[in-house]
Amino acid sequence: MNEPILSVENVSVAFGVSPPKQVTFDVSFEIFPGEFFALVGESGSGKSVTSMSLLGLLPRPSAKVISGSAKFHGMDLLKMSTKELQQIRGKKIAVIFQEPMQALDPVRTIKSQLLEAIPKIPPKEALEKIRSFLKSAGFADPERVLNGYPCEMSGGMLQRICIVMALIPEPELIIADEPTTALDVTVQAAVLAVLKRMAQESKTAVLLITHNMGLVAQYTERVAVMHLGRIVETGKSRDVILQPQEAYTQKLIAAIP
Ligand code: ADP
Ligand code: MG
Repeated sequence: MNEPILSVENVSVAFGVSPPKQVTFDVSFEIFPGEFFALVGESGSGKSVTSMSLLGLLPRPSAKVISGSAKFHGMDLLKMSTKELQQIRGKKIAVIFQEPMQALDPVRTIKSQLLEAIPKIPPKEALEKIRSFLKSAGFADPERVLNGYPCEMSGGMLQRICIVMALIPEPELIIADEPTTALDVTVQAAVLAVLKRMAQESKTAVLLITHNMGLVAQYTERVAVMHLGRIVETGKSRDVILQPQEAYTQKLIAAIP
């Protein structure tokens, strides 16, 4: 049996101080190398809080991890210093947000921003790699993308650029928090298909955060269902969807269009 690359155990997060309001309760799940794993649940169930806690990205000073551990290759992410987390974030663990503009600078070309994602490679070699990744992400004319600015791209294009940006440093894990929620339904599938194919090709594991059980069914191998701050059910996506054990999971399945 493979060792998990990420092992989240009993993580609880609270906001505020007097009194603190606990929003997640003993959240546990594991992600194995190269797998496409989903954390699914309604808005407000604690998905983003859980994933952001892993990377030290919780809002400060209001949010606090009050218990638990998150071992990445045996090292607890929750105990790391800001500096140690910076070494991991964007390199070993990449993040894709709901709004691609969160990751992109509107006043710089796509080329300069993608080059920044691989600083240690000579620019010529780096550009070759970026071009080949852009082609793989469905851009027939990579030069047009490279010389363009974010505002010249559609939402779906921007999210595919963010996927490329996340993958070029060859991370072991990508955390994608509702990466297609802001996109038209017709574009969502195309973007997730690119993420799935490219992650598979580079053997990168993906933690997909979504409220959409349809996406879980179509793209993921295993799923953890989150409800009111707790994981209520975990298993192979296929099993969970065909034979949900929890009433809440059935409700999410019933909402699949
Ligand atoms: P999800 O990503 O599943 O939609 P979140 O993880 O964003 O949900 O939120 C989980 C809970 O934490 C919600 O009850 C939300 O109101 C609360 N929460 C999130 N961010 C903050 C914040 N900055 N201050 C106070 N409470 C917050
Ligand atoms: Mg969220």
